Amino acid sequence: MTWLQCIECDERYSGGEPRYTCDCGGLLEVRYEEIPSRSDFTGPLGVWRYSSILPLETADSVTLHEGGTPLYDAGKLSDELGVDIHVKHEGMNPTCSFKDRGMTVGVSKAIELGIERVACASTGNTSAALSAYGAAADIPAVVLLPQDKVAMGKVAQALMHGAELVELDGNFDECLRIVRDLADEGFFYVLNSINPYRLEGQKTIAFELLEQLNWELPDRVVLPIGNAGNISAIYKGFREFYHAGIIEEIPMMTGVQAEGASPLVGALQKSGPLEPFESPETKATAIRIGDPVNAPKAREAIGETGGTATSVTDEELMDAQVKLAQYEGIGVEPASATSVAGVRKLLDEGVIDSTETIACVTTGHVLKDPDAALEASGDTVKTDATREAVRNALN
Ligand SMILES: *Cc1c(COP(=O)(O)O)cnc(C)c1O
Ligand SMILES: [Zn+2]
Repeated sequence: MTWLQCIECDERYSGGEPRYTCDCGGLLEVRYEEIPSRSDFTGPLGVWRYSSILPLETADSVTLHEGGTPLYDAGKLSDELGVDIHVKHEGMNPTCSFKDRGMTVGVSKAIELGIERVACASTGNTSAALSAYGAAADIPAVVLLPQDKVAMGKVAQALMHGAELVELDGNFDECLRIVRDLADEGFFYVLNSINPYRLEGQKTIAFELLEQLNWELPDRVVLPIGNAGNISAIYKGFREFYHAGIIEEIPMMTGVQAEGASPLVGALQKSGPLEPFESPETKATAIRIGDPVNAPKAREAIGETGGTATSVTDEELMDAQVKLAQYEGIGVEPASATSVAGVRKLLDEGVIDSTETIACVTTGHVLKDPDAALEASGDTVKTDATREAVRNALN
C-alpha cells in the first residue's frame, strides 16, 4: 500500500491519478504502509531487488536491468586527497546515467496509471533514459531540450531510441516550466524529478551502496546537484532504512553544484530563500540549472544529516574528471566529477575530516559528452606512417 504525501502540509493523495504537487504547492513523496526488512531483498543487485518498497502495485516493471552499478575503491585518489573515497559509478547503467533507476520505476508507474504519452524537460540524460524506457514500454515519449546546450551523446541516444525531440530557444528551467504547464493541460505525463515516483527508483542507490559496503555506513555521500532530485532520493532511501531500524545513522548528505549554477549553495549559506540563477552557465551541462525544483527536499536531506553543499569551478571539476579517468580508470562526464572536486575543496576548508569514509556518486558516463572529454584531456600525436617517425614521436 502506498500513497503520496505533501512534505509541507502532510496532505495525502491516493496516487491513483497523475499528480506532481500538493494543492498547497508543496512537493510530494511516496509513503508506504510496508516497513522494509533486509530479508525482503532478493534477486541480483539492482533497482527491482527492492521491489517490496517500490510503488508498483499491479503493473509489471519495464526494466532494462538498471542499477547494480559497481562500487570502486579509489585508492590512488584517496592517497592523493588523504581521505578514504569509494566511487559508485552510475554511468554503468543501461543508458549510462542514474536516470535509468528513476525511469524504470516512473515509466512502469505511468503504464500502471494508463498514461498514453510521457514527457520530460532535460539537460540530456533524462531524455536518453526516457526515450529508452519509452521504447521498452512501447509508449510515445516527448523531450524538451535547451537548444545547443545538451551534450552530443545524450541527444544521439534520445533520437536513436525514438523520442520526439523539441529544442527550445531557452534554458532548462524554461523547458521544465513549459513541460509542467502542458502536463497540467493533460497533454502528457511528466517524468522529471518533480514526479515523486521517479525518485523512488533513485533511492535504491542508497540501498545498493550499503549492501556493497557490507552494511557499513559511509560517513558521507557526495554527489552533484542539478534539479536536486537525486540527493533527495538517496536521502529518502537512507531515511526509510533508518526508520525501519536497519541502520542506526544516516550519512552526511553533501551536494556539489557548479559555481555558475549554484543557487542552492547560496541559499544554504544565507539560510534564506533560494534565489534562482537567471542564466546558469557551466561546462557541466547536466547540472546547468538555475532554479532546482526539488530544493526544499534537498534542504531537508542536507539539514537533517549534518551535511553541506558547496560549489566548484569548471576548472576544478575538469581536473577531477581527468584524475578519476587517469588514476582510477573511471570515466565520468563533467557533472559527475563535481563530487570529487567538492571533496577536495571541503577537505581544504576543513569541513571534511580526513578520517571520514566517503562515497562519491558519479552520475553519468564519460562518453555522454565526448566534446568535454576531448577538451579536458590531452591531444593526439600525428606522424608519418613509418616505424622511425613513431619511435621519434614517442621519445
Ligand atoms: C541529472 C543529472 C545530475 C543532477 O541530478 P539532480 O537529481 O537533477 O540533482 C547530475 N549529474 C548527471 C550526469 C545527471 O544526468
Ligand atoms: Zn501540501
